[in-house]
Amino acid sequence: ADKKPLLDVNGIEVIYNQVILVLKGVSLRVDEGAIVALLGANGAGKTTTLRAVSNLLRGERGEVTKGAITLREQRIEALSPAALVQRGVVQVMEGRHCFAHLSIEENLLTGAYTRTDGKAAIARTLEKVYDYFPRLKTRRHSQAAYTSGGEQQMCAIGRALMSEPRMVLLDEPSMGLAPQIVEEVFSIVRDLNRREGVSFLLAEQNTHMALTYADHGYILENGRVVMDGPAAALRENEDVKEFYLGMG
Ligand code: ATP
Repeated sequence: ADKKPLLDVNGIEVIYNQVILVLKGVSLRVDEGAIVALLGANGAGKTTTLRAVSNLLRGERGEVTKGAITLREQRIEALSPAALVQRGVVQVMEGRHCFAHLSIEENLLTGAYTRTDGKAAIARTLEKVYDYFPRLKTRRHSQAAYTSGGEQQMCAIGRALMSEPRMVLLDEPSMGLAPQIVEEVFSIVRDLNRREGVSFLLAEQNTHMALTYADHGYILENGRVVMDGPAAALRENEDVKEFYLGMG
């Protein structure tokens, strides 16, 4: 059966500070229920692509100057980040961004700010987040500042899940984490994808890990998609091996 695109990014150009052209016509799609990896070196434009989708460019003095972004075939470029969260699209920013002085549980609850379905429903989501991230349950009364890097990354993802999203934009979840913790985070992402049907667009420099868990990958170079394909095919591709998997 033909899958419908959940997210469709079509030929977008992004300019920062009215002069710096950073995305030069990027197109990609995320099908309903897919994990899609956005790969490429530092500075290739991964974060910018995610920010364009979640409408977080303005704070960075950036704007989409060409192309279109649609969610279930509806244009979304004009929607605020909060309106996007209400439509099921939430971004987990690079560098985690937990509130250091709040407890893990308080951090998680801030993720429910756009919800209007009441405390009981929010409490059910919180229990679900704890089921996926048992470490967060153990640490729920700890101040985020005193938890590990892995726990803070889990907290950032858990906080995003508190909005009951259909699609999570995940920016470099592996950054700064030990390989074992990266595996743990990615395997929870896969569980969320399989059991809850949450779709993911995942920006990663850790090509190997991302292609192990993703269904499909796009490789960005200097603001352009230079290659894309099923994750398994990219893993076997000689150029990808040489340039991104360090097997040349
Ligand atoms: P990283 O892994 O460092 O996040 P990336 O692939 O996500 O890399 P981006 O952060 O999207 O890349 O950056 C792409 C380009 O845009 C880089 O050359 C960067 O210097 C530039 N850039 C990013 N943010 C801004 C900004 N606010 N103003 C001007 N230029 C920016």
